[in-house]
Amino acid sequence: MKKTMINLIPGPVSVPEVVLAAAHHDFASPDLDTDFLELYCQTEARLQKILGTKNSIIIQTGEGMLGLWGALKSCLRPGDRVVAVCSGVFGYGIADMAEAIGAEVRRISLPYDQTFANAKELEQLVADFKPLMITAVHCETPSGTLNPLAEIARVKREHGVPLFCVDTVASAGGAPVEADRHLIDLSLNGSQKCLSAPPNMTFVSVSAAAWEVVDRVNYAGYDAFKPFKNAKAEFYFPNTMYWHGTAALSAAAGLILDEGLENVYQRHADAMHYCVERARGIGLELFATPEAVKAPTVTALKVPEKIEWARLHKACHENGLAIAGSYGSLAGKVMRIGHMGTQANIALLKTGMDILEKVLKK
Ligand SMILES: *Cc1c(COP(=O)(O)O)cnc(C)c1O
Repeated sequence: MKKTMINLIPGPVSVPEVVLAAAHHDFASPDLDTDFLELYCQTEARLQKILGTKNSIIIQTGEGMLGLWGALKSCLRPGDRVVAVCSGVFGYGIADMAEAIGAEVRRISLPYDQTFANAKELEQLVADFKPLMITAVHCETPSGTLNPLAEIARVKREHGVPLFCVDTVASAGGAPVEADRHLIDLSLNGSQKCLSAPPNMTFVSVSAAAWEVVDRVNYAGYDAFKPFKNAKAEFYFPNTMYWHGTAALSAAAGLILDEGLENVYQRHADAMHYCVERARGIGLELFATPEAVKAPTVTALKVPEKIEWARLHKACHENGLAIAGSYGSLAGKVMRIGHMGTQANIALLKTGMDILEKVLKK
């Protein structure tokens, strides 16, 4: 990307210099040097604060998808029952992934422009089907929505569902996840969204209940969680850990905590409101319905009917603005502005929205 580019892609986002610099060392061996173990523990402690959990967090090399696959494969065996709350590309995607592992999956199926609201249907399904796991996506990045988690957590508790697995990749560090309050057993994350680190690390919180299931399932594979259970205590990781990537992730988490979580969430909310207001001012329409909860980290807009997305995208790029299209059935119909992490910045958004306005006028 050109230096002058305004990056408003919803991940990977712009990485601050100090985070890049944290990775820029000639580190020793993470297998032998206990400094690595200290860094790993420090990173875990920082991420626990951001996710709002006392559960242990495993940190692996790879981006978000690795954590998604690792969690599902480590906890599900063929025939296990899963109820998937689906309201977007990732929600339906996780349901398909669980099915690919052989799980029996029932979906709470919502259109992509809505968020979870009707606990009755979920409650009925969970009561009848008795799943091992409920899955949900907090921020559906492709549609710019944020699923409320409290009611799903209530259903989990009242019906004694062992595991609640939530994709918080695009919300953690931009909106309160509060994993413990929401009874999340597995909070799945990547480094390149709100954390604003390079796209090379995944981190997943694992509750005691989830560890029990991981033990029982005993999945072996590169993405397996089980070898991480005693990795810290025994200082024995299943593979050579990525010291540079861990250092960058720790620095990125440190920046968020230094700013203060409440301030960070307010900055994201302010960025979202500014983005929505500007979009409306230019005559653009939100993709999500008015009833849906809007994500504070990304805004999805309808591509105006008379405009071809590929042309608009190209024109924005030529004018120094990087924004994104969307995925699946939303491709070509939805465009997205990422205001997560470093990009939750009103001055940056103003410059970007000015360019978008200029391009659209032509
Ligand atoms: C980005 C993202 C992921 C992970 O995708 P990557 O391949 O790591 O980019 C998973 N879920 C959601 C909701 C995301 O936004």
